[in-house]
Amino acid sequence: MKEKLLIHACCGPCSAYPLRVLKDDFELLGFFSNSNIAPEEEYKKREQSFEDLCDAVGVNYVVDHYDPDSWNEAVKGLENEPERGKRCEKCFEFRLRRAFEFAKKNKIKYITTTLTVTPYKDTKMVFKTGQKLSDEYGVSFTPMDFKKNDGFKKTLELAKKQGLYLQKYCGCIYSLKDREAKQ
Ligand code: SF4
Repeated sequence: MKEKLLIHACCGPCSAYPLRVLKDDFELLGFFSNSNIAPEEEYKKREQSFEDLCDAVGVNYVVDHYDPDSWNEAVKGLENEPERGKRCEKCFEFRLRRAFEFAKKNKIKYITTTLTVTPYKDTKMVFKTGQKLSDEYGVSFTPMDFKKNDGFKKTLELAKKQGLYLQKYCGCIYSLKDREAKQ
């Protein structure tokens, strides 16, 4: 019997490769929990692309409650941090915590996340946060670095092939402002 694995998914494109890599070896359950995404219109597009992906790959999924007010409260005071800085650490913790709470409640022993597929995020920070929450909740965090073996390139190719919506910034309103300032 396959082991159940909850995979926290940050978006459809970043999940395209990880879901395919894991689905034969685990009983996978996708968990979309991304209250960092702003504005809400953008959130809806990313949620839809994740749902379309899961339907195409044949993976069950859960969409968590969208709660931007709580996310904003969690990163208060860190608004001006650069990407990969302290705000991102809080952001990972906020989202992964929701996944750990869900896993604990539903007796799922293992968790991983698609947050490691992109080179734009700090993988060590993701693993550190996952391990901290694992110690807190008693649910195993499985540190998988999906960017290995050209994972990022592969996931973008798969997403494009399926015609998934491809976002142009990380997710929060601060990353959107950064992107606009750079343009
Ligand atoms: S830049 Fe990305 S990871 Fe960092 S706080 Fe914003 S949404 Fe979260």
